[in-house]
Amino acid sequence: MRRFVLAVALLVLRTLPGAAQEPPVFTHADTLRGSIGPARAWWDVTFYDLHVRVSPADSSIAGRNGITYRVLTPGREMQIDLQPPLEVDSMVQAGARLAYRRDGNAFFATLPAEQRVGETHTVTVHYHGKPVVAVRPPWDGGYIWREDGRGNRWVATANQGLGASAWWPNKDHGSEEPDSQRISITVPTPMVDVSNGRLRSTTLNDDGTTTFEWFVTEPINNYGISVNAGTYAHWQEIYQGEDGPLTMDYWPLAENEADARRQWTQARSMMQCFEHWFGPYPFYADGFKLVEAPHLGMEHQSAVAYGNGYRNGYRGTDLSGTGQGMKWDFIIVHESAHEWFANNITARDEADMWVHESFANYAESLYTECLTGSRAAGAEYVIGTRSRIQNDRPVQGVFGVNYSGSGDMYYKGGNMLHTIRQLVNDDARWRGILRGLNRTFRHQTVTGAQVERYMSTESGLDLAPVFDQYLRTTMVPVLEYILEGSTLSYRWADVVPGFDMPVRVDVGDGALTWLRPTSAWQTVKTTGGGAEGFSVDENFYVEARDVG
Ligand SMILES: [Zn+2]
Repeated sequence: MRRFVLAVALLVLRTLPGAAQEPPVFTHADTLRGSIGPARAWWDVTFYDLHVRVSPADSSIAGRNGITYRVLTPGREMQIDLQPPLEVDSMVQAGARLAYRRDGNAFFATLPAEQRVGETHTVTVHYHGKPVVAVRPPWDGGYIWREDGRGNRWVATANQGLGASAWWPNKDHGSEEPDSQRISITVPTPMVDVSNGRLRSTTLNDDGTTTFEWFVTEPINNYGISVNAGTYAHWQEIYQGEDGPLTMDYWPLAENEADARRQWTQARSMMQCFEHWFGPYPFYADGFKLVEAPHLGMEHQSAVAYGNGYRNGYRGTDLSGTGQGMKWDFIIVHESAHEWFANNITARDEADMWVHESFANYAESLYTECLTGSRAAGAEYVIGTRSRIQNDRPVQGVFGVNYSGSGDMYYKGGNMLHTIRQLVNDDARWRGILRGLNRTFRHQTVTGAQVERYMSTESGLDLAPVFDQYLRTTMVPVLEYILEGSTLSYRWADVVPGFDMPVRVDVGDGALTWLRPTSAWQTVKTTGGGAEGFSVDENFYVEARDVG
């Protein structure tokens, strides 16, 4: 019976307009990359010790990563990801070379000794080559080999989606974060490298290079690890935040220092706003940094990459079309919001990338509210971004194959959260949920389902049908209504089975009234002024249709 009900539900979903578009055909490589297969499941990374020599003269890199791991269950074969055209030179454990085979982007090493549960070991992978060059960073990622405006070499990495294994060997899956990591980058003198965490040492080498040893003491997602090497200016300020003094370091290109000293003051008000709404900045030990990069921007943990040209808006334009988006710098706000949603709370599977992007999009609206002191201004912003929603395919992607959902994870996801705020209808509680997410899942990798369950539990509302609707179908709920005299009839259409989301409407008398529609017709007596005056509160991402 249960199985039958499920089959019917799936059938309904399939036949609803626009829902469940056929996913692409996935390959063996997608599965190796996107799932926790047998050669990944038995070990847990505790530390990455990454050393990379970066050579702009021939666009090559060479280095090693010492992968320290704890044995969870007995295992002998280990999957380590490194993408072509990079080549492994050797893999070594306890002084002995390991045998390994290559399967596309993955290497499978055979460990000589039995790996006993609870033990900690290290495999060091030596490698070299010319890493893939980014075509359209940060979206089409890889290495970026550029010059700044003064002709100085400028090198950076951006590899979200593509994967950290585009330039260094690791367990390339969202569920895996080391407890700490060294990032030791060697570049030609006098280039300066700015990576994640704190700078522990700078060593001038005999061969005309300098080594910058950065260290991250808190769990970090692998796609956040980055190189930014160029001719930088630097200053630091101390922010007195919720968890005490926080270092905020600024690394613009030297040629842009004056612009940065003006524009980047926004980082302070960003920090103030997001600590208020989301809780303490999650990485006090590693500090906060803004680093200028030769691409638009990326949420690299404790080294947020900035390339928005020192202008407000998104490359000087307002994504909301309302004017609200021109009041602040999109990249400072959006990418820094990811320190809470993406870096503190990290999605285990690419299919749940909405956990990163929906909250970061929603954070833009909260920042608008902080900056203007106007709840209406924040609402205007997020509602304005609705015109960018495509409803081409679901926001949630496909699990186990490194496949994220629709780009709607930004604007639709933000509007879903704004809608849920209306349902909670209590800003203190809403703020408590956002802060509670960051406290409960601090420094963890999560599933989207965990986030959904937490929000239902803490709000006291069953949000399951709301998440099903907005994350897993492309349908926008339609409130169908008939207003005849003083009788209002209404119901939800284009919704998932069981969708019973309350909604606020104006029945024409200027006051907002809560309705609790289901997909069955209900009627209510009103004092309103007829169908012309009827409207749905636009804070809800729904449509209304007069079917009278
Ligand atoms: Zn983002």
